[in-house]
Amino acid sequence: MLTFIDSHAHLADPAFDADRNEVAERARSAGAKAVVCIGESIAAAERSAALAARHPGFLFATAGVHPHDAASFDPQSDVDAIRALVSRGAVAIGECGLDYHYDHSPRELQRRAFASQLALARELARPIVVHTRDAEEDTAAMIAEAGEAGVRGVLHCYTGSHRLAEIALGVGWYVSFSGIVTFKKWSDDARIRLVPEDRILVESDSPYLAPAPYRGKRNEPAWVSFTVAHVAAARGVDSAALGVQTAHNAVRFFDLPKSSRSDS
Ligand SMILES: [Zn+2]
Repeated sequence: MLTFIDSHAHLADPAFDADRNEVAERARSAGAKAVVCIGESIAAAERSAALAARHPGFLFATAGVHPHDAASFDPQSDVDAIRALVSRGAVAIGECGLDYHYDHSPRELQRRAFASQLALARELARPIVVHTRDAEEDTAAMIAEAGEAGVRGVLHCYTGSHRLAEIALGVGWYVSFSGIVTFKKWSDDARIRLVPEDRILVESDSPYLAPAPYRGKRNEPAWVSFTVAHVAAARGVDSAALGVQTAHNAVRFFDLPKSSRSDS
């Protein structure tokens, strides 16, 4: 039996409004010990916190503002809202970061929102969940500085360069892989192998990025099992062992209760 922790799912997304409880139950049946529900906006973080409260010990929430929405980020009220959500049990800041691929918000405002959330992670001593796309130089500079100041983070759904991953790993950060590694166009298993076994996480990023053989469908946490299988094969290890290892890593990274550990 496979066990794993989905380190990044948007379970508060309206895509799950019709069957959210069934989705959570399917995740549990597939071997999920926990699912981290990402708050990519204050509204989504509030919904994630409510979900976590309804499924204690299984669903956990984060709170942050995505780079796509950085233009409307308010360094006072949004930071206060995230701080309040953390005091109510959110396990991490984010997702936040930089996205120069879509540029939905001006880059300067993306950097400002990301810097605010890195500073908050440092202040609250909580981990941070980072989205980065086509923004390697600025991401590298900002996470290196934060990492040296003691902030721990994860580069989620990682598709960036080896160099950026090495910079993140060098300051103690984690790297998470999604269903993208199962796509036909994925050709860089070396990127999976460069992450040490105690620093690798797996995620669905659901409802997006369903792994093969479900590519194009609405994704859900249960299907992280396909990602675990590919990551394990790339590393030449057993799927069950990789699932256990990544679950331990998620418990350590998010400081989840030990009951979420895969060996209990
Ligand atoms: Zn996400």
